[in-house]
Amino acid sequence: PDLFQAPDYYNLDDLLTEEHKLVRDSARAWVKREVSPIIEDYAQRAEFPKQIIKGLGEIGGFGPYIPEEYGGAGLDQISYGLIMQEIERGDSGVRSTSSVQSSLVMYPIWKFGTEEQRVKYLPKLATGEYMGCFGLTEPDHGSNPSGMTTNYKDMGDHYLLNGAKMWISNAPFADIAVVWAKNEEGRIHGLIVERGMEGFTTPETHNKWSLRASSTGELIFDNVKIPKENLLTGKTGLGAPMQCLDSARYGIAWGAIGAAMDCYDTALRYAKERIQFDKPIAGTQLQQKKLAEMITEITKAQLLTWRLGVLRNEGRATTAQISMAKRNNVDMAINIAREARQILGGMGITGEYSIMRHMMNLESVITYEGTHDIHLLITGLDITGIAAFK
Ligand code: FAD
Repeated sequence: PDLFQAPDYYNLDDLLTEEHKLVRDSARAWVKREVSPIIEDYAQRAEFPKQIIKGLGEIGGFGPYIPEEYGGAGLDQISYGLIMQEIERGDSGVRSTSSVQSSLVMYPIWKFGTEEQRVKYLPKLATGEYMGCFGLTEPDHGSNPSGMTTNYKDMGDHYLLNGAKMWISNAPFADIAVVWAKNEEGRIHGLIVERGMEGFTTPETHNKWSLRASSTGELIFDNVKIPKENLLTGKTGLGAPMQCLDSARYGIAWGAIGAAMDCYDTALRYAKERIQFDKPIAGTQLQQKKLAEMITEITKAQLLTWRLGVLRNEGRATTAQISMAKRNNVDMAINIAREARQILGGMGITGEYSIMRHMMNLESVITYEGTHDIHLLITGLDITGIAAFK
């Protein structure tokens, strides 16, 4: 009874290749074996389980779509999505580590880096020997990163970086940081900052009620000397970090389905076993309404996201399409988590079950990588041509 169930109400598996199913099943088995048994404890203690890093690399959790010549898994976008789904079925914090490493650190180095940077960093990031983080958000610039004040000056033989980033996943233990900063002309560029560089510190952010098994921190740059070869030269402007976010948000859309599946599966099994008033609570209309709506929403999200995966494989998915899926699916998952929590009654608030942890995690997921509001305004901009957020 404690095997993962995988709701597939519309036979979505028929749309997957053998490779997709193989990749998904091995990720699923790994999560079941290595993440599920320990994650509640780590979340309660607010600690990232570093021992899973190697395994995350082995299941393709670091750079699933990065070419094999750079150590990546060389998979397509659907396999990437399925891996995120399975990891987030375990925990959104673990999936965050995987998303950041893959789409926010490896992706920009692969797409905008030099060949020397690719060779130097990507294979080590793919195995988890190096861990990375992505610094875009600042204390005074969250939804509007274009206002960033972190900046660097050209000192002739090196750059001098100053400023601060906030809310940075993996920051406290990252070996490298991909940092977005303005040059003297105010143009945004990406720089690779390495732990150990003088003036670079990464204080941890404590007292989170959400993503407790993920480590979050600040990045502080106090006259950090950056070698010139650490500049990402392939793309500049806000479009560069936004392209990374497209990749990460696409993975989050799949990941949220995993968290929702775990909550639905747990609630369904509990409802069938829990007897009140001499019958299973699953036999009451109120609980059936909740469960029926959950599977309906999961199924709609699966179809939306599978189609988005096909479009991404063809290089046709737009930023606005990705926004819609990220927003819809995270909202779907958080609502399912809240309803599922209630189906478990008092038991739902304990760490004996995963639901409350998913629910609290999803409060971060609905805010990071573009808030629920901002993604709606991106759809609004796309269909009207008028930006309401500026
Ligand atoms: P604000 O931008 O201040 O928004 C506050 C509220 O105002 C929100 O509800 C928002 O929707 C609303 N709002 C803002 N502008 C408008 C508008 N124009 N119209 C209507 N409503 C508006 N960032 C990174 O760079 N790297 C990371 O690794 C990273 N990891 C994170 C991990 C966690 C656990 C968390 C919580 C955040 C992380 N972030 C990271 C930061 C995250 O992306 C930001 O929190 C997010 O972009 C929102 O910014 P903010 O928190 O400053 O909120």
